[in-house]
Amino acid sequence: MDAPTLAGPPALPETETHCPYCALQCGMTLAHDGASWGVKARDFPTNRGGLCRKGWAAAELLSAPGRLTAPLIRSGPGEPQRETTWAEAIDFVVTRMRALIRSYGRDSLGVFGGGGLTNEKAYMLGKFARLVLGTKNIDYNGRYCMASAAVAAQRAFGVDRGLPFPLSDIPGAGAVLLVGANPAETMPPLMQYFDEQKKRGGKLIVADPRKTPTAALADLHLQLTPGTDAALGNGLLFVAIRDKLIDEPYIAERTRGFDFAKRAVASYWPDRVERITGVPAADIVLAARTLGNATSAMVLSARGAEQQSHGVDNVLAFTNLALALGLPGRQYSGFGTFTGQGNGQGGREHGLKADQLPGYRKLSNAADRAHVAAVWGVAEDDLPPPGLPAGELFDALGERGGIRALWVMGANPVVSAPKAAALEERLARLDLLLVNDSFLSETAALADVVLPVTQWAEEDGTLTNLEGRVLRRKRAVAAPAGVKSDLEVMKLVAEALGRGHHVETEPQAVFEELRRASAGGKADYAGISYERIEHEHGVFWPCRSEADRGTERPFTERFWTPDGRARFHAVQYRPPAEEPDDQFPFYLTTGRIVTHYQSGAQTRRVASLAGAEPEAFVEIHPSTALGLGIADGDLVHVITRRGRAECKARLTQGIRLDTLFMPFHFSGAGRANTLTNDAVDPVSKIPEFKVAAARVERAAALHL
Ligand code: SF4
Repeated sequence: MDAPTLAGPPALPETETHCPYCALQCGMTLAHDGASWGVKARDFPTNRGGLCRKGWAAAELLSAPGRLTAPLIRSGPGEPQRETTWAEAIDFVVTRMRALIRSYGRDSLGVFGGGGLTNEKAYMLGKFARLVLGTKNIDYNGRYCMASAAVAAQRAFGVDRGLPFPLSDIPGAGAVLLVGANPAETMPPLMQYFDEQKKRGGKLIVADPRKTPTAALADLHLQLTPGTDAALGNGLLFVAIRDKLIDEPYIAERTRGFDFAKRAVASYWPDRVERITGVPAADIVLAARTLGNATSAMVLSARGAEQQSHGVDNVLAFTNLALALGLPGRQYSGFGTFTGQGNGQGGREHGLKADQLPGYRKLSNAADRAHVAAVWGVAEDDLPPPGLPAGELFDALGERGGIRALWVMGANPVVSAPKAAALEERLARLDLLLVNDSFLSETAALADVVLPVTQWAEEDGTLTNLEGRVLRRKRAVAAPAGVKSDLEVMKLVAEALGRGHHVETEPQAVFEELRRASAGGKADYAGISYERIEHEHGVFWPCRSEADRGTERPFTERFWTPDGRARFHAVQYRPPAEEPDDQFPFYLTTGRIVTHYQSGAQTRRVASLAGAEPEAFVEIHPSTALGLGIADGDLVHVITRRGRAECKARLTQGIRLDTLFMPFHFSGAGRANTLTNDAVDPVSKIPEFKVAAARVERAAALHL
């Protein structure tokens, strides 16, 4: 018998909610005018009435073509996917899982989640993997996004909270250094804070290989060579020390390890750093003095510095700088990092990661295991050990002793993973690829089973934005018949496996359990409730009890290390895994553009966004293009050691002569991640999305 479909309430005329996309989580009102859904901006503390074009078009996603409303199944290799019933789909999945468990053990099942999943779904997926499937192998796509920043923040400050202050502190900063961040395109409403900061006389410095729309607004643009961020950070610290800009009382009272960092940067004098980074020595000195002489200052990083094979070192070079200047924990000052995905912050707190339990607890810590096991009503021994991080999990797909079945929820790794063509081959080796999605993403198209699930406005749940503010997206729209929520799907599979009691399907009930599981952890949500979120414009974690007002600025008194002091780290610049050579003479770097979000699985289906930016392109400097006989709009091939992509050339003065840029939102021939390097940072395991050696050729030239 088929399972019942989700029974949605009638559509409400207006619902105050949040955007389906990035970590700014702009407040918006979803309204129905009698004919269709539309979006109105809302005066929420983060966006203060602003939305970007993705947000304005968010309602279009609800009626976008290609919505899945029935499960799809592929009966055998080479067979096409066909529609089926929920009963057949779940039976197929569970039968295969049981067979795999019998033959290969529970760790042959893998789970890959997404940073867009609500806190409730992320939490439940971690529990589901470990208690229902009984596997240790779960990780998520935040490994590709925030992992370096997370490790560096843990090491420097003792906790990973992207921004340890609210966005409203930014206008008070006398100087801001953005490292590898382009919020003018990725989070346009955020720019109002920098506009205000500049209006008050503050200075904005941007370090980026491209003259992005953000860099174009800067007082000083440090156009560094891709992969040289750590050298730049060390160079800035060298000048700060040499010119006596550092805050010695702060260093003495609030930090440890300054001498190690000082010795490590002793050889990073400006002329040498200019040779490494390409940034003029005078600009390095000016940047350091601007930050060091400001009464308040911020250093903020993002994926440009972090998605590298030395991403952790890159970030630590800048936490060192911020600490030496006495910034973290001070008013209108600090170090922070911009989280990218909608719930990238919450998604990395509650158990989606390979080594983690809810509340930033650790699977390797006995006390942490005991706490969570008690909340879950199981013995501590029932919890598996830490599993494989994403890259290693993907490497193990189809391997002897590796992963035989993979369940993907809220992710599209066929477009977003590095060296993506190789991943496609590995996915094809699986005995079972299962994907939950609202649309047939590129990953879903390869699956043995696709389960159609609710999307943002059709479900309730909380997300934690880039500030550490927990907020609530509300259900506004009835889901189409035939569609279920991810929580309901987990419940069906759990019941079929005889473990249904572990899974709750009502989001608020899941959140109540999450509160208990996270209580006492670093990311403590014990005092946060749906009601408080509603009445207080969101609540900042940690929030340890209902009497606790939440924590906007966690480092004011002390850092979260055992002794309360932040840590310096000795960082040395090391080149990226691949540097240009005769065969591949350019740096290829990748990133986001204003019209699309992540793998484009949603935004490429929104007509107004797809129409504005329908296909991939590669940015090339006009002088470089001239030498290669490439004109603006020419079809070109971008080639790396992983493969080739075909797209149009877009000539721009805003990029370095030695650098190419491709957006990573597109699939097919223009897929940037066909080209990227899967070399990873040794600690965070983040792949080197931002640096690959490449060449570019006119497509026609290949056929001469
Ligand atoms: S995509 Fe991000 S910046 Fe744009 S409206 Fe949505 S939350 Fe705001």
